[in-house]
Amino acid sequence: MRVILHCDCNGFFASVEALDNPELKNIPMAVGGDEESRKGIILAKNEAAKKYGIVTAETIWSARKKCPHLVIVPPRHERYMEVSRKVNEIYKEYTEFVEPFGIDESWLDVTSVKELFGDGKKIADELRGRIAREIGTTISVGVSFTKSFAKLGSDYKKPDATTVIMPEDVERIVYPQPLGNLLFAGAKSCNEFSKYGINTIGELAKADKAFIEKHFGKNGLLLYNYAIGNDEDRVRSIYEEEEIKSIGNSYTFAHDLQGEEEIRHALMWLCDVVSSRMRKAGVKCTVVSATVRDGNFRTVSRQMTLSAPTNHARDLLEFGMTLVKKCGISQGVRLLGISGTNFVQDGEEQITLFGIENNRKSEKLDAAIDSVRARFGQKAVKFASSEEHYTKYAEKGEDNN
Ligand SMILES: [Mg+2]
Repeated sequence: MRVILHCDCNGFFASVEALDNPELKNIPMAVGGDEESRKGIILAKNEAAKKYGIVTAETIWSARKKCPHLVIVPPRHERYMEVSRKVNEIYKEYTEFVEPFGIDESWLDVTSVKELFGDGKKIADELRGRIAREIGTTISVGVSFTKSFAKLGSDYKKPDATTVIMPEDVERIVYPQPLGNLLFAGAKSCNEFSKYGINTIGELAKADKAFIEKHFGKNGLLLYNYAIGNDEDRVRSIYEEEEIKSIGNSYTFAHDLQGEEEIRHALMWLCDVVSSRMRKAGVKCTVVSATVRDGNFRTVSRQMTLSAPTNHARDLLEFGMTLVKKCGISQGVRLLGISGTNFVQDGEEQITLFGIENNRKSEKLDAAIDSVRARFGQKAVKFASSEEHYTKYAEKGEDNN
C-alpha cells in the first residue's frame, strides 16, 4: 500500500504576511484586493480574522461590516512564490516524488523511504516541525494511501495538524464529509448528485457504479473511484518533465495599465518571452488565449483558434491584442497574460499559400534573436518600441506556464 502525504500551508498568504510583519500576527488581518472599490475581495485571512466569521472570497466591504478594525494588506505574489519554493525544497529532502498543487499544497509519495525516515505519520509530524522552525509558518498534513484521501486528510484538521486516513478510518473520517470536499467535486457536479440524494462522500461510495457511470459519465466515475479509495494516480517525480501543454506568461503590474498603447507595450514583452519559449521547445501553437484582470480582480479570458500555427512574437502580439480588446477591460489593467496551447511540432504545419515569404523572414529574424540571446543573455535583444517598458518589466517577470 502506498503512503502519500498531502501538505497544505495554512492560511498561506496571511501567514507569510505575518512572518514578515509580526505585529500582524495576532490582530484580525486579511490579504485583499482594492479596498476603495466595493468589489475588492478577501484572498486570505489569519486566525484572528476567522473568529469574526470572515471568509475567503467575500468582499472587503462585507468583511469590514463583520470586523471594522480589520487590517487589510495588498497581496505580494512574488514573495509567496519565494516562500513556496523554500517549503518545497524541504519536502524534496525526503523524496523525489513531490508534486505541487497550486502555490501552497504538495503531494509527497514517501512509500519507498520508510526505512530512512519512518512511517507516514512520523514524516508528516517531522515536516510540520521543520516548516514551523525553518520557515516560520504552519502546514497541515494528510497521510493516506491515495492522493484524494491524503488531500481530504490535510483539510480535516488544521492548522498545524496531521490526519492519518488508513482503510479502517475511511468510514469514520471520509464518509460523513460533504461531497464537495472531494478533490475535483465542483459545485455543479455536487448539485447534480444531490438530485439523486447523494450529498456525502459515503453516499457516493455506496452508490451503484453502473448507475453513476450512466448518469454522470466519465467525471462522475472519477469521483466515484476517489470516493471508494480507488485512485491510482501517481505523485509526479521532480525529475519527470511534464508534457508541455501550454506555454504562457503573465504578469501583475505594480501600477494599473491605462489604454491601448500601454497594454500593447506590456503585451509585447510577454509575447516575446512566450515566443522564445515555444521556439526552444520546438512547437507552434494553434490556439492563443489572453487574460486580463482589473484592480477589482475582475478577470476575463478569451481565446481564438488560428488558421495557421505560429510561434512568432509579432503574431502572438497581434492575436493577443485582438483578444485583449475582446476582454473588454482597457483601463486599470492589473494583470495581463498570454499563452499558446494545442501545439504542433515546429515544421509539421501545413504551408498555406499566403504569407510564406513573410513567415520565412520572420522565422529568420526570430532565430537570429534566439542565437544572440543564447550568447549574450535575454536582454541583449529587444523590440525597439518596447525598449523603455522592457527594462521596467523584465526584471520581475513572473512565469506561470
Ligand atoms: Mg492552504
